[in-house]
Amino acid sequence: MKIVCFDLDNTLVDSVKAHTKAYNRALNSFGLESKTEKYMFGKLGRPKEELIKLLAPKSSKKVKDEIKKLHDRYLAGGYFKYAKKLKSSLEILKYLKKKKYKIAITSNCSRNNIYVLLNGAGISKRYFDLLIGNNDVKRSKPYPDEILKVGKFFKKKPDFVVGDSIYDITAGKKAKVKIIAVTTGYYKEKELKRYKPDYIVKNLNELKRIL
Ligand SMILES: [Mg+2]
Repeated sequence: MKIVCFDLDNTLVDSVKAHTKAYNRALNSFGLESKTEKYMFGKLGRPKEELIKLLAPKSSKKVKDEIKKLHDRYLAGGYFKYAKKLKSSLEILKYLKKKKYKIAITSNCSRNNIYVLLNGAGISKRYFDLLIGNNDVKRSKPYPDEILKVGKFFKKKPDFVVGDSIYDITAGKKAKVKIIAVTTGYYKEKELKRYKPDYIVKNLNELKRIL
């Protein structure tokens, strides 16, 4: 049995617009300024608490918690429709299913956000054997907890982690899993290389050479 863990945002799904709209509406409701999609593109991938600290640096913990909650509510309430599947995502999921891979998502989104974003992007949940969100573990990426939880579920260490950010690479390293970095997110090849993933690919279709 081989197991692969996929990151969600900017790996399987382009969710920048969906997240930006949901965060902006939450920020605006506290009189805070909107962020551009370009800004958000560079900030996704990190733990949510860290992200919200960047979006609302001067707000109290209570307001920060509320922004997180509102973002989730607005995303599920309609903005999830802005999510789009990334190139070759369906193709590679079908390919891995045929090869009998177990497929998991390990994401710093909540499990419910994973559901709605997959739905918005038109990717069926049936491709996945397991979904692990940030609310399923104590510590999200760059900690290895999400990947370790997948290992616990299957009673075998995952074979590969696929992700677009330095947080995915760091988590994969700590979990001692082979890492495939993909340059469909904010981080360019040169920057990803510094974190020493095992492979770097330009899009998911290239996974066929490795998996
Ligand atoms: Mg990502």
